[in-house]
Amino acid sequence: MFRPPGNLARGLFHVVAALYKRAMSHPRAGLSTLAVHAGTPQGPNAPLTVPIVQSTTFRFESAAQVQEYARGSSGLFMYSRDENPTVRAAEEAVALLEGAESAVVFGSGMGAMTAALMGLVSAGDEVIAATALYGGTYKLLRDVLSRFGVKLRPVEPERLAAEVAGRPAKACVFESPTNPTLRIVDVAAVAAACRKAGTVSVMDSTFGPPALQRPLELGVDVVMHSATKYLNGHSDHLAGVLAGSRARLEPLRLLSHKLGASLDAQVAYDLLRGLKTFALRMERHCATALRVARWLSEHRAVQRVWYPGLPSHPDHELAKRQMSGFGGMVTFTLGTKERAFAFWDRLRLVARAASLGGTETLSSLPILFSHTGYSAQELLRAGVDEGMVRLSIGLEDADDLIADLAQALET
Ligand SMILES: *Cc1c(COP(=O)(O)O)cnc(C)c1O
Repeated sequence: MFRPPGNLARGLFHVVAALYKRAMSHPRAGLSTLAVHAGTPQGPNAPLTVPIVQSTTFRFESAAQVQEYARGSSGLFMYSRDENPTVRAAEEAVALLEGAESAVVFGSGMGAMTAALMGLVSAGDEVIAATALYGGTYKLLRDVLSRFGVKLRPVEPERLAAEVAGRPAKACVFESPTNPTLRIVDVAAVAAACRKAGTVSVMDSTFGPPALQRPLELGVDVVMHSATKYLNGHSDHLAGVLAGSRARLEPLRLLSHKLGASLDAQVAYDLLRGLKTFALRMERHCATALRVARWLSEHRAVQRVWYPGLPSHPDHELAKRQMSGFGGMVTFTLGTKERAFAFWDRLRLVARAASLGGTETLSSLPILFSHTGYSAQELLRAGVDEGMVRLSIGLEDADDLIADLAQALET
């Protein structure tokens, strides 16, 4: 009878578990070191990179082994919607970068947010949601969870801590930096108010990935990322992440098995590959974004620039205190829709596209993308004007980006 060469999946799990313990025993390892080595198998003659375990299902040796699996924490695998060794390696890597005990990855950022909210709230519960929230998250609350009896209480980001203290809710969902004006929420203040009130804090940290801020250290309960953006970093896969304490995350992991927004092993491998250059990429995104933001703020055609690293940004002092980098997103306004559209159509190197966090610099117009369909009053409340242009600074040379912006700004 054919005998397979050992239980690869189980062996790999132990390799990853050993790696995790080893890395955690070196808590002072820098982010770049963690990013490069997270998910790298260890041991004699181990492959340098994680094998892609492309199988939906796993063999069992006996009924007793299935029972061992059912008891949990055996390192055994049954079905890849629930767990898969390559996906598990990606989860351990993300947990390391986020400084979390546990992380669960999903097939998209919205898959992660859906699992977080469905895991935390029940019919009759209320969710405090920052008004500057990703459209998908807002619509999930407004149009979907509302049908299951979940109430939505929108609150301006700067009023979150006071609101939670005044009238607690089941959960509080917010982002920092926000889109598109890159306003910074005082994360420690909101998280502390939530802890005190018994409200679970959920922070979408997509615009401020691990190199820039540490939400769990600031007291946040659950951190969410669209790993589609900076974590994977190459605009070629959808993925999502939840991270936090083991006690918070394990119920969400079990729920994720039912919701089915699982990450594929191939994509988990690519996510791990993207993570190897994560810290390096973030350094470059930040450095180029600061240069571009400074250049734009001196250009006569530009009326205003929003970048948390500029002293002119309303939250610059808070950003300096709370973040270790100001990120790769830059927003500016040309005052009118006509000027913004004309500028946008003239871009050559910068791609006209939604999304962010990849190697290519992208530009979107908030009124046509994230804030399409908003009334004039809703735009005003979101701090969005019709002349706004958003840039996701990629990894090109800053001089080339500035040259493209310069030619597109000439009228
Ligand atoms: C893109 C994005 C999401 C949704 O993530 P997907 O991977 O597209 O599902 C959520 N929040 C923010 C801030 C995002 O930018």
